[in-house]
Amino acid sequence: MDGLATLDSMRDRRAGLDRIDFEIADNGLPVHLGGTSQHTLRNSISCAGTGLHSGRKVGLSLHPAAPDSGIVFRRTDLGIQIPARFDNVVDTRFSTVIAAPGDPQARLGTVEHIMAALAGCGIDNARVDVDGPEIPVLDGSSAPFVFLIDCAGRERQAAPRGMIEVLRPVRVEAGEAFAELRPTTGASLSLSLSIAFPARVIGRQAYSMTLTDRGFRREIAPCRTFTMLGEIEALRQAGLAQGGSLDNAIVVDDERVLNPSGLRRRDEFVRHKMLDAIGDLALAGRAIRGAFIGHRSGHGLNNRLLRSLLADTAAWRIGGEAGESSLAA
Ligand SMILES: [Zn+2]
Repeated sequence: MDGLATLDSMRDRRAGLDRIDFEIADNGLPVHLGGTSQHTLRNSISCAGTGLHSGRKVGLSLHPAAPDSGIVFRRTDLGIQIPARFDNVVDTRFSTVIAAPGDPQARLGTVEHIMAALAGCGIDNARVDVDGPEIPVLDGSSAPFVFLIDCAGRERQAAPRGMIEVLRPVRVEAGEAFAELRPTTGASLSLSLSIAFPARVIGRQAYSMTLTDRGFRREIAPCRTFTMLGEIEALRQAGLAQGGSLDNAIVVDDERVLNPSGLRRRDEFVRHKMLDAIGDLALAGRAIRGAFIGHRSGHGLNNRLLRSLLADTAAWRIGGEAGESSLAA
């Protein structure tokens, strides 16, 4: 993989690894993910890789950004910016695809794994330049993006981090699948997710965690996307998964995993679905203080959940920033 080779060559240059910050919030609980201040990257950093669905080679670079600017993608080949926001999501069938407001042709696919890495590492503000229609898949997890972020370093900014505090439960459903956000007594986002697949190697799996920098890095970031062997041909015929391989996805054939190196975690599948949820929820534009509960939920439900939450101004507020109003306007 080009992207991973590039990452390997950068290993020597890895410097400035941030310590994990712990601050104490007003409610006496520790705040992770960089504490109560906004953070950006200390330096710019680049890599190259392949788009999972397009199969195209894509160059990616991450840059520091000003306080309150959020995560903003830029299609450098089109000269168009696409803010990483839930209301710019235009397709959720195979990955989370965003598009420039008012220009639905200017799309960017598979944003969820890099969004999860940025959220999991406590990066509030960054510009992400990409010269093609899709974020490179790298190894199918968030770990290479975490490595890039660590190489760039993290910089505290002189601006408070206002979180979206969930005030009342919001729930969306599709058949037996559902996704909910509820108020929490915790200081950050907690997640509880269950999945059920006919493939015997997956079956039923459940996982719960509170999102912290350390927990994300250890337990979630390395977990790869997956696909069923029987679905690959249909995806290919639909023009998708052109860049897919055993190097960037787990391939499942009922009771077997086809990847020679096996799984990174026994329950890597549900953990990857949690990674996706963390990335999708990061499109709220700010960290969420709430409890996420999902069953068989995916990109579509995750996005509907954010839309439902943020459309209901009685269901949330910006914590710690009295007077600041709506993100969803
Ligand atoms: Zn994924």
